[in-house]
Amino acid sequence: MKCPICEEGMERKKVPYTVGSVKLGIFEADVCSSCSEIFFTEKSSDAIDRKAKELGLWGLEKKGRIGYSGNSLIVRIPKKVAEFMKLKKGEGVLIKPEGKKRLVIEIE
Ligand SMILES: [Zn+2]
Repeated sequence: MKCPICEEGMERKKVPYTVGSVKLGIFEADVCSSCSEIFFTEKSSDAIDRKAKELGLWGLEKKGRIGYSGNSLIVRIPKKVAEFMKLKKGEGVLIKPEGKKRLVIEIE
């Protein structure tokens, strides 16, 4: 199998999967030897979904809208997500754009 992103070779590996700070387990995935992108196999994806449902991590995804505060744009973090991630006011985050359609917020 070739990497859909850079078309380099992929290696089948066991990769840990976490949601927030919760480890769901270790699953089989194809990992690109060049760009390190991880693609979980179909079987792994199903297992990850099942595990996430079991642990009540399902349905945390929420649609929102970009707001405005002073000179900055703001995104509200839903209460359920904040509780799950144990986020506190004043906590440091790293805001990391990954292309034009994905923004990652890492808790420091
Ligand atoms: Zn790649």
